[in-house]
Amino acid sequence: MAPRTLSKSDFKLARSCDAKLFFRENGYPDNRDMNPYLALLAEGGYMVEALAKAKYADGVQLEYGRGVADDYQRTIDKLGRDHVTLFEATLLVGRQQARVDILEKKGNIVRLLEVKSKSFDGAEHILSLSAGRAGALRAVKKPFKIFAKWEEMLEDITFQVLLLEKVLPGVIIKPFLVLVDTSKTAGLDNIPSLFELVRRTSADGTSRLATARYIGSPEQLTALDLVTEVDVSEEVAMLRDDVEEAAAKFESRLDEPLSVHSVDIERGSKCGSCEFKVGEDIEKSGFKECWGPLAEPKPHMLELFSIGKCKGLDGSPLVDWMLRQQKASLLDIPEDCLVTKDGSIGANAERQRRQIEYTRRGEVFVSTDLRGNIEALGEPMYFIDFETSRLALPYHHGMRPYGLVAFQWSCHKVASHGQQPTHAEWLNKTDVWPNRLFVESLREAIGDSGSVLTWSHFEGTTIKQIMPELLRFGHDVPNLQAWMTDVVANRIVDLHDWALHDYYNPGMRGRTGIKVVLDALWKSDAVMRKQFEAWTGMVADESRDPYASLPPVEISGVLQDVHEGTGAMRAYQEMMYGADKHDPEKKEMWAGLLQRYCELDTLSMVLILEHWRRSVGLA
Ligand code: SF4
Repeated sequence: MAPRTLSKSDFKLARSCDAKLFFRENGYPDNRDMNPYLALLAEGGYMVEALAKAKYADGVQLEYGRGVADDYQRTIDKLGRDHVTLFEATLLVGRQQARVDILEKKGNIVRLLEVKSKSFDGAEHILSLSAGRAGALRAVKKPFKIFAKWEEMLEDITFQVLLLEKVLPGVIIKPFLVLVDTSKTAGLDNIPSLFELVRRTSADGTSRLATARYIGSPEQLTALDLVTEVDVSEEVAMLRDDVEEAAAKFESRLDEPLSVHSVDIERGSKCGSCEFKVGEDIEKSGFKECWGPLAEPKPHMLELFSIGKCKGLDGSPLVDWMLRQQKASLLDIPEDCLVTKDGSIGANAERQRRQIEYTRRGEVFVSTDLRGNIEALGEPMYFIDFETSRLALPYHHGMRPYGLVAFQWSCHKVASHGQQPTHAEWLNKTDVWPNRLFVESLREAIGDSGSVLTWSHFEGTTIKQIMPELLRFGHDVPNLQAWMTDVVANRIVDLHDWALHDYYNPGMRGRTGIKVVLDALWKSDAVMRKQFEAWTGMVADESRDPYASLPPVEISGVLQDVHEGTGAMRAYQEMMYGADKHDPEKKEMWAGLLQRYCELDTLSMVLILEHWRRSVGLA
């Protein structure tokens, strides 16, 4: 077996918690492998990287994968040239290794470029520098500390610089982050089609996205000025001592047991979202190793809504304090810990106390306000849900990176309480900036009066974001703008707020997403299931909520499904820009997947409101 090495991603992982390096090196299951949002981000990241590389026409792409030592030797051979640009050069010093996105060597000067798909405002950066400040990655006041959100990326490039200094002693190294610049706009339409995503199949037969290639013309590349190279020499100088020390520590531990890795670890609320906290049925679990018997209690304290903000009785973080008492059950959290800084009980603490109390009693909480809230709803009621996309490299001419594309809405209309809902929907299928059509079609569906019900602030925020964009894209439509203003200011009612403040079901376990709430009610509410059957003509499976029951659809030989917003973004991308974009039949299959998912979100809202009406004696 090849000796373990410390890669830059190992370094990054270990920086977030020392014990994670042990779990990574020893093959513990990692729940991020299954995260569709990260997979979508990875696709965007590969395209940004391909765009950054395309600007270096003479760059040599180095193949890798035959072993780090071989890869390193090939890099060294190429670096023998006086002038050379390498993509994916391998650096290896001791057991520390890094693959460099772009390395440009011109005599004694080497530029090291790390490409990131993170958004950055290039105009603001220049303004800051010209005003004598330190740029957009640093605070505006002296001593111009590095913003926390940039630290991880800057440590990553510092790690590479430290290795390169040892590989090429005596050269002058200039480090740059290549970032997606939101102050620029796309000069072309249909940008994703200018890239080819390359997949590799590994020995176990699984196919993984490996890289992307730019396949557009040089002229199109000129119009694709969407990334900016940012000199980070100063930031690297600020971080180098820390990074060097930490990298040496992690390198020395590569073969050590968990007891060595976990010397300095602090278990805390962060463990709730640890990538090594996997399903309870999976035996090999990093979380279970770290927490031992304190991983077991059910309900667990990490289920407490917003536990990260709570303090123990001695003022230390609550999770820490509980662990010192050798306790981890939600039901063991003392009520006295659930207060605000000044000792009063704020909205959060009230929710937390309610969660514990009603979980202990196994009962449902319904506030005294819920009935009045429902009675105050104006009729008709329109339950709406939007699907949108924000990609690093945008779809349409004139858009900024990560610009908003509102591509789908679903609406269930209920004329008056208890009546069968009727459904309307809209999905963009043409390759144009769709946001105006999105709003106009929505207006036709929901008109000028009646309540507009949502399950988050997202729909209102989306409408607000489209308003200034209409003018920027040349659509002078004051009447439509006035309608949008009215919807946001006077008509939207956020049912999620009610789930937060006016209702609690122990099955929600501190969470309030629509799928969680529907699932918590579905199994115990036979009336809800009957309504579902009557309104949809489908059979209600008592053991699984409708989201879990959505069967996958086979498209081009692959089973596809859409269960969450990221899945919707991916399906839209496939429908509009994927391999099947010119096949009307396949396009319709993608559209069908999108429509049934979005429709279920709005139907779920109707079902939940009906449940609440029954809970308060209105039905
Ligand atoms: S469970 Fe907590 S302590 Fe253990 S690796 Fe994860 S974050 Fe670190």
